[in-house]
Formats: sequence, structure tokens, C-alpha cells
Amino acid sequence: MNFENKTAVVTGGSRGIGLAIAKKLAENGANIAILFVGDPEEGDSAKAELEKLGVKAERYFCDVSDFEESKKVVDEVISEFGGIDILINNAGITRDKLVLNMDEKDFDAVIDVNLKGVFNMIKHTYKHFMKKRAGRIVSTSSIVGLVGNAGQANYAASKAGIIGLTKSVARELAGRGVTVNAVAPGYIGTDMTSALPEKVKESMKAQIPAKRIGTPEDVANAVAFLCSDEAAYVTGEVIRVDGGLAI
Ligand code: NDP
Repeated sequence: MNFENKTAVVTGGSRGIGLAIAKKLAENGANIAILFVGDPEEGDSAKAELEKLGVKAERYFCDVSDFEESKKVVDEVISEFGGIDILINNAGITRDKLVLNMDEKDFDAVIDVNLKGVFNMIKHTYKHFMKKRAGRIVSTSSIVGLVGNAGQANYAASKAGIIGLTKSVARELAGRGVTVNAVAPGYIGTDMTSALPEKVKESMKAQIPAKRIGTPEDVANAVAFLCSDEAAYVTGEVIRVDGGLAI
């Protein structure tokens, strides 16, 4: 796997699964632009970790749910890095509640970041990839988008939406040498899941055939494959990375 002289944009690359993906691609030579919205120190430290791997790295404040802001940042990355070869749509949030207690804001916020954010990033890089006649787009869905989950109707809808979006854009761009795929992680140990009650974590772990919680690196390995030259004939695919949880 060799990503030398390639630039990858990783949304939500400041921590968790996004940072692991950024590191895996950087270890194999890719220059990295990470997009995030939170603590500037976290962004700085992610940038420093990536630079230690000997690649060019930059961090950009960018709310992916904002159409204009994400366009501006994509244009900035193209001008500062000389182009984009790989787009990783990984930014995501949760607002878990039963529909009984879920208000409109909880629903809209999750759809805006998790689904519209993916559309925004694909929309703003689409012509760039078309002209290049090459490229890789990988988005982070979830097994919850495949099988649903009580208390996550908004999140599951956003993650199922990513799958429909991925398959449609894969059909649109296949003739241009651009592959468009998704990964569907199961239960992965990150800040997102550390917030779950201990009892829920234990019961989830007990249901995983592999008998362990996944790591961000497990997801990064699958994403790196989809970004590689070796995956040139794989498009419109959703790879579960879940230790068998959703078999
Ligand atoms: P984290 O909560 O650890 O990280 C989320 C990342 O998304 C952070 O970098 C965060 O930036 C960024 N982000 C959030 N909102 C925005 C926004 N509006 N614009 C740009 N960036 C944003 O999550 P994980 O690493 O666990 O999850 C990463 C992805 O994987 C998500 O899409 C999630 O839904 C998905 N996933 C996770 C699973 C798990 O078990 N952990 C399972 C299945 C899927 P900042 O640091 O600035 O807040």
C-alpha cells in the first residue's frame, strides 16, 4: 500500500477513528488535511502526530454540515496541497433518545452533520475528482445503518442514508476511475462509545462474536485498503468492521 504524493482529507480527523485513519494513511506516505470543529489543542496535537510520520499535515476548522464553509475549506485544501486524491467522510455525532423523547433539533443535528456533511464534502470535491479521472471516497457509516438500533433512530437514518448516497455516487463516478465505498463499524472504543453506561457496554461486548470491542485501527485498516490501488475494482461496497456483530 503506497499513498506517497497523495493528499487525503479526513473529516473528524482530530481524534478517534478519524485520527487512526489519518495516521494509517500517513504511515503509508499520504499528506493529510484534517477537518474538525472542537478543541484547537486537539487539532494541533493531531497535526503534530501526523507530521512526526514525515508527511505534510494541516488542520482546518470546518463544520461539515455548513455548505459554504465546507466549500471554502475544500478550495483551501486544493490550493495548499495541490489537489485531493482521497476523501474520508468520517465526522459524526450522536443525540441518542427514543423517538418518544427525540425532538426535531436532535433529529436535524444528527442528519445535518452525519449525512448532509457527507453530501457537502462529496459535492465540493466531485468536479475535482471527475477532472482527475481518479480518486477514492470512503465514508464511515455504521452497522446501526444496516440493522437499526432502539434509541438511535436519527443516527441510524443518517448512517443508512450514507449507504444510499455511497452507492449512488459510486454509480455516477465509476466510469471516471473514482471509487466510492463505505465502512460500517460495530462497537469501537472511542470517546463516542466511552459515554455509554458500563452496563450497556458489557452487554454489547457479550454480543460480539469476536469477543472484543473493536479499535479505531481495525477500522483504519479497512479504510486504507479501500483507498489503495489494490481496491481499484471495489466500488459501491459497504464493509462491516464489527467482529461479526451484524452477521
Ligand atoms: P468521536 O466522537 O471520537 O470523533 C468524532 C469526530 O467528528 C471528531 O473529530 C469531531 O471533531 C468530528 N466532528 C463532529 N462534528 C463535526 C462537524 N460538524 N464538522 C466536522 N467535524 C465534526 O467519534 P468516533 O471516532 O467514534 O466516530 C467516528 C465516525 O465513526 C463517526 O461518523 C461515527 O458515527 C462512526 N462510528 C463510530 C462507531 C463507534 O463505535 N465509535 C461505530 C460506528 C460508526 P471535534 O474533535 O472537533 O469535536
